[in-house]
Amino acid sequence: MSTFKELGLNSQILQALTDLGFETPTEIQLKAIPQVLSSKQDLKAFAQTGTGKTAAFSLPILEQIDVNSNDVQAIILSPTRELAMQIASNIVEFSKHLKGVKTLAVYGGASIEDQVRKLNKGVQIIVGTPGRTVDLINRKQLKLSNLKWLILDEADEMLNMGFKDELDKILAVTPKEKQTLLFSATFPKEVEGIAKAYLKNPIEISAGEKNKGTDQVSHQYYVVSERNRYNAIKRIADVNPDIYSIIFCRTRRETQEIADKLISDGYNVDALHGDLSQAQRDSVMEKFRNKTLQILVATDVAARGLDVTDLTHVINHKLPDQIEAYTHRSGRTGRAGKEGISIAIVTVREKSKLHPIERLIGKKFISTPIPTGKEICQNQLLKLIDKVQDIKVNETEISDFLPSIYEKLKDLDREELIKKFVSIEFNTFLTYYQNAPDLNDSEQMRGVDRNSDRGSKRRDDENMTRFFINIGKKDKLNPARLIGLINDQRIAKNIEIGQIEILDTFSFFELDKTYEKETMSAFGGNDVDFEGRSVNVEITTKQRTGQARSGGGGGFRGGDRGPRKRTGDSDRGNDRKRFGDGDRKPKTDFGGFGRKRPGAPGTIAKSTFGSDQNPKRRKRI
Ligand code: AMP
Repeated sequence: MSTFKELGLNSQILQALTDLGFETPTEIQLKAIPQVLSSKQDLKAFAQTGTGKTAAFSLPILEQIDVNSNDVQAIILSPTRELAMQIASNIVEFSKHLKGVKTLAVYGGASIEDQVRKLNKGVQIIVGTPGRTVDLINRKQLKLSNLKWLILDEADEMLNMGFKDELDKILAVTPKEKQTLLFSATFPKEVEGIAKAYLKNPIEISAGEKNKGTDQVSHQYYVVSERNRYNAIKRIADVNPDIYSIIFCRTRRETQEIADKLISDGYNVDALHGDLSQAQRDSVMEKFRNKTLQILVATDVAARGLDVTDLTHVINHKLPDQIEAYTHRSGRTGRAGKEGISIAIVTVREKSKLHPIERLIGKKFISTPIPTGKEICQNQLLKLIDKVQDIKVNETEISDFLPSIYEKLKDLDREELIKKFVSIEFNTFLTYYQNAPDLNDSEQMRGVDRNSDRGSKRRDDENMTRFFINIGKKDKLNPARLIGLINDQRIAKNIEIGQIEILDTFSFFELDKTYEKETMSAFGGNDVDFEGRSVNVEITTKQRTGQARSGGGGGFRGGDRGPRKRTGDSDRGNDRKRFGDGDRKPKTDFGGFGRKRPGAPGTIAKSTFGSDQNPKRRKRI
């Protein structure tokens, strides 16, 4: 059986699939659809995101749904409202030629009264988030006593999000005789636990190996120092003029910060995270889906419901805390048979986190050098030439102007003319990247211990100032408390902390040289006290001594823990837009691709991508 028809679906469903352009079933559909059509046995399915699992469980249910009954017959539980909405809208599309099928998504953050009203009109298929589903059950508005199918979608994510209690409550009000289908991309022991508790003698099916990523994704990593993490992202965007990507961050705050920086650097980006209202999230997702936005900076949870099939790249700004989340992230690309690249940006300390992920996905990360300025210029130039080749000339509109233009340019030969026209856009990019430094942390790539005297001089040294502080271990100081003390002085937002050495009665720490004065005046002016001792800070030499380190019990590279970020500070930190070794990024007039060109409509490559509206002037939703 290799067609939807052969799987046993009726002609109305087949018509809907044809309308959607689904020609052949995917592996999970081939396995799940006949199984659910022909048997009431529970099902446990290993399926990655993007493998077509929504249709795999929805189509056989639609085939069997009783449209003459107004009872809820199927409930699909999903971890996020975005995913719930996505699944419900897929089901509506699959059933558009079936008369009388009513589907409803129920999720938090939207009016419960509205949902109750719709429920009361009679709904056969519910797609719900666990929290709202329990609410509706408690209010006696949702009755599941005649349920025939229960689907747990993205079960691993539901457990990660702490929905175990809600699942138990929902399961308790469903009839014993029903078919339960559990879909999960990963099967940690918690998911195995609920499979054991909720499924009776399930048949197991799998699309791809358990916990493995899709084959279409290649995994790359870039080694950078902490301070270059952001610049690496910009280079990835610049070297891939047609990038269409999600940058994953670990926290909402980090997500917003990275998005803000990219927006103010002229990239065509927005943020998606849980601090946004539902309307804001919908609007951002819509812009990303229709490619008005080229890059989305998102948290793991917020990106769950996003159904985009043709991402070119997934970028891990930092690796996720839970390695299973990496498969979810990278699974956003390489979908529906397309190829994709998943990039991890790591410091040397984080490199060790790649091995467990490699074991999980069954693939090796490829060490990849960060693109050089020259490579970026080359790619951008080629893109520009493509634009020239593809541009449509409006013969009628332009004809009036041509004679005077020809007259003005008559002394230039063909080569000169080409060079000059291309340079109009290219020069700014060229200037910008002319002296761009190598961002690859080559010391780190070679695995040299950065804190070791054997290593060559640390490349960050010149950007750091070393401070002496008159407190140490005897005062119960440790690196974390010292970082806290530094942060308490509110020196600047995003200030980078370098090496910390805690000795018995005094210590040393390094801070970004840019804030040398601010650091001194913060510690001097604040009358700082630590464990009853008055704190004194002085600038000291950068020389680290072997004695200091052995006395201090080993160096601590605070910088690798990420820049310290705090609220309430001035925006000074954000203003410090570094390009490579600290050059301020010049305003580029290049109509880049990962970036938007300020002003001048009509000159940016539209390609498939959005408007050339200046992102700085875009109204924030
Ligand atoms: P899912 O894993 O259900 O989120 O599906 C991933 C993407 O693949 C969605 O955009 C679906 O519309 C698409 N898709 C699912 N099944 C098929 C199919 N048989 N042929 C083409 N596209 C499909």
